Amino acid sequence: HLKKHYHLKKPSLFSAAQPSVKAVDDVSFDILEGETLSLVGESGCGKTSLGQTIMRVHAVTSGEVLYRMSDGREVDLAAASGKTLKAIHREVRMIFQDPNGSLNPRMNVRDIVGEPIRMAEGLSGRALDDRVSDLLGKVGLRPEYLTRYPHAFSGGERQRIGIARALALNPRLVVADEAVSALDVSIQAQTLNLLADLKEEFGLTFLFIAHDLSVVRHISDRVAVMYVGRMVELTETEALFTRPRHPYTEALLSAVPIPDPRMRSKRRRVRLPGEVASPINPPSGCAFHPRCRFASEICKIEAPQLRTVDGGLVACHHAEDLTLDGVDSLGVAA
Ligand code: SF4
Repeated sequence: HLKKHYHLKKPSLFSAAQPSVKAVDDVSFDILEGETLSLVGESGCGKTSLGQTIMRVHAVTSGEVLYRMSDGREVDLAAASGKTLKAIHREVRMIFQDPNGSLNPRMNVRDIVGEPIRMAEGLSGRALDDRVSDLLGKVGLRPEYLTRYPHAFSGGERQRIGIARALALNPRLVVADEAVSALDVSIQAQTLNLLADLKEEFGLTFLFIAHDLSVVRHISDRVAVMYVGRMVELTETEALFTRPRHPYTEALLSAVPIPDPRMRSKRRRVRLPGEVASPINPPSGCAFHPRCRFASEICKIEAPQLRTVDGGLVACHHAEDLTLDGVDSLGVAA
């Protein structure tokens, strides 16, 4: 039941009371150890806020984030402080979207990657250099890059430095927030392969946040779809791509870009009327109802809860009755 609401200072056009942006609104889900769970949805759906709230970049409005630590203790990330929070931040690390903005241009690679190790373990000198060189090797960078600064690297290489920094303390859970979206397509593929290899080698669990569904298909065990601060579907990756259960998922799948121009005439687009709802004043009932071609009276009144349908979780009143198209019927080679 995680919530992250940002309170706005001034009343908005939508409400005279102090309004708030309901970026994450009563979201409940599990991340299973060793899996890659991807979180997808359009800009503003709350996926980045959810990742940042788990990382405690922002304070939690309400709810719990229960995490089982390597020593077996179950802690609430949302309420942890002091030594416990420090210990959590060794095990739970983040890879950021922007490899340029997330690296300090005045620090060389040794300091960028080595800082968390120096602070957590007090390592310095040759021992620290060896550890950083080893990490650079793991992400496909040469050890002699140690003394170089971020500006000397390409975007893909900078993201590898960010990944090396995230791995520096042997984390267990990595939150990757749009980790490849700023990269060229060919570099995206390389970086995704690297993340998959590192996951195997280090036994990592990934929460992978992305807006591009075609990126997540090949690396995810399960995919969760968010719309206006709520999770609307969560299921195994192939099931989501071939048998979506939520009308919004179907529309997202139909918008996946097709690389081969000859195939574009065969695709079927599910066009949604209107705009994405405002998280300040979301529609009543199912927030998707103004755009949904299946909406009925109950959809306008009652918010659907996530429930099990056909082995996956879906928040739709009519999920059992709908026949929705997956990527094959939509003509999308995702
Ligand atoms: Fe559409 Fe109703 Fe399902 Fe919402 S609950 S997705 S409006 S059918």
